[in-house]
Amino acid sequence: MVGAAPASAAVGAMVVPVSGTVTGYVGNHCIPKDDDHFGIDIAADAGRSIGAAASGTVVERRFSSSWGNTIVLDHGNGWRTRYAHMSSMTLTIGQTVQRGGQVGLVGNTGDSFGNHLHWELSRNGATSSLMNAYFTCDKVVTAGTAIPLDIDGLGDATTAPLDANPAAVVYGSEMDVFNTRPNGTMGKGTWFGFDFAGFSDFGGEGLGLGNPSAVDFNGELSVFAIGADGTLFKKTWNGSTWSVWSPLNDGGPRLVGQPSALKYGENELSVFARGTDGAIYKTTWNGSHWSWPGVFSPDYGFVSDPSAVQYNGELSVFSTGGDGHVYKSTWNGSSWSRFSDLAPGGGMVGNPHAIQYGSELSVFSRGADARIYKNTWNGSSWSGFGPLGNVVGFASDPFAVEYNGELTVLARGNDGSIYKWSWFPWSQTWADFTPLSGGPAMAGAPAAVQYGSELSVFSTGTNGQTYKNTWNGTTWSGFIQQS
Ligand SMILES: [Zn+2]
Repeated sequence: MVGAAPASAAVGAMVVPVSGTVTGYVGNHCIPKDDDHFGIDIAADAGRSIGAAASGTVVERRFSSSWGNTIVLDHGNGWRTRYAHMSSMTLTIGQTVQRGGQVGLVGNTGDSFGNHLHWELSRNGATSSLMNAYFTCDKVVTAGTAIPLDIDGLGDATTAPLDANPAAVVYGSEMDVFNTRPNGTMGKGTWFGFDFAGFSDFGGEGLGLGNPSAVDFNGELSVFAIGADGTLFKKTWNGSTWSVWSPLNDGGPRLVGQPSALKYGENELSVFARGTDGAIYKTTWNGSHWSWPGVFSPDYGFVSDPSAVQYNGELSVFSTGGDGHVYKSTWNGSSWSRFSDLAPGGGMVGNPHAIQYGSELSVFSRGADARIYKNTWNGSSWSGFGPLGNVVGFASDPFAVEYNGELTVLARGNDGSIYKWSWFPWSQTWADFTPLSGGPAMAGAPAAVQYGSELSVFSTGTNGQTYKNTWNGTTWSGFIQQS
C-alpha cells in the first residue's frame, strides 16, 4: 500500500504568481503611502496572466470596492493566498487549480493605483509577512519561479513544481527527454544508442514554460510547452539545427497546462491544449502552415489537460470536466464529434492518459479516492471506469506505455515513489502496482518510452532534478539522476 505523505520542509512550495516589479510589501508600499498594507504588490502590464502560487481550491471570488476583482485560494494547512485588483477572474468558486495555473489577469480594479497584482499570504486567517524576505522593493520577479522560502507544512515539494512532468521521445536512433526546471526554463537529456550524451540547457529563459510535449514528425523533432502568459511555444530540430522557442498562438487564445502533440496520418501534426476559458483548442500543421488555434468542439468546462491518441485511423481527444467526468471528442476523417461523457465513471481528478493497445483503446485516470482507473473501448463498447489493481494512494496522473507487447501503467504514490502496474498478454495476467526503487521522493507524473530493447522511466525529483530508471529486460537500474 502507498503510505501517507511524508512530513518534509517545503522550501519552494510556492512560485511567483506574476512577472513584474515589486512595489509594495507587508507593512507599506515601496513609495510609502499612509495606509496599512497586508500584501505584496507586483506592478505588471494589464492583462498579464496571474498564476496560482501553489495548488489550491477557490474559496472566495468576488468584487470588492477595495480589492476589486479578487480570488482567494486555500492551499491546506491553514495557508491561503489572495489575488486582488484583477481585470478578470479565470477561476470559479470551488474550482481547484494546479500551481502556476491561471487565476486571472492583471488589472487596476478596486482601490488601486495602477495595473498591479496585490498578493496576500495568510495562515489561519492572520496575515503572514513571510514573503517580505523574497519580494523586496524594485525586485524584478518572474512568474513560475520557485520562491526559496520554507512554507511550513505546505505540500511536499522542496524546489520542484509538483507537476513537473518530463516528456520522453525516441527520435531516429536517439532518445531525448525534456523537462521543465522550477524557473520555467527547459532542460534536455540525450542518449545515443544507450550512451548518455548529457543533459543540457534547452532555453526558454523568461517564458515560464510548463510541462513539455515532444513528437517526431517526418524527421523533425518538435517540443511544445505553454508559457506563463498562456502562449504555446514550439522549438524544432529540422535535422541539423534547433529553432528558437517561437509562439504558435500570438494574440490567440490563452492556454494552460501541458499540451498534447500528436502525429496524425502521414502529413498532419496536431497540438491540443486547454484554454483558460475551459475549452480545448487545436492547432494543426498540414505540412506548410499552422492553423489558427481554434476550438474544434463547442464544449467548455474542462479542467484537465487533453490527451490525444490515434486509434484505428481515428483521432480522439480526452479531457476531464469540472464534474469529474472524462469526455471524448473524435475526428472520424471528416469531422469532429461533440465531446461526449465516457459514462459511467465520475469522480476523476487530474489529467487522463489515452493509449491504443492492440485492438483496444484505453483511458487511464486518477480518481478523487487516489486510485488509478481504466476505461477500455474494445472496438464496440466502453467498459466504464473501473479501478486498476488494488493499490490506493496515488498523487499523480497515470502514464501508460507499451513495452514489448506489455501494457505498463505508471503513477506517483503519495509517498513519492513511482509505482508500476503491468499487463502480460501471453499469460492474460497482470501484476499489481509495485514501487520502483532508487532516487529521492518524486514530484509530478512519470513518463516512459521504449528505446530499443529497454524501457526507460523518467521522473522529476522533489529536488528539481530529472531521474531515469531503466529496465534492460532483466533488471531495473533504479532511479539515477540525469541532470
Ligand atoms: Zn497592495
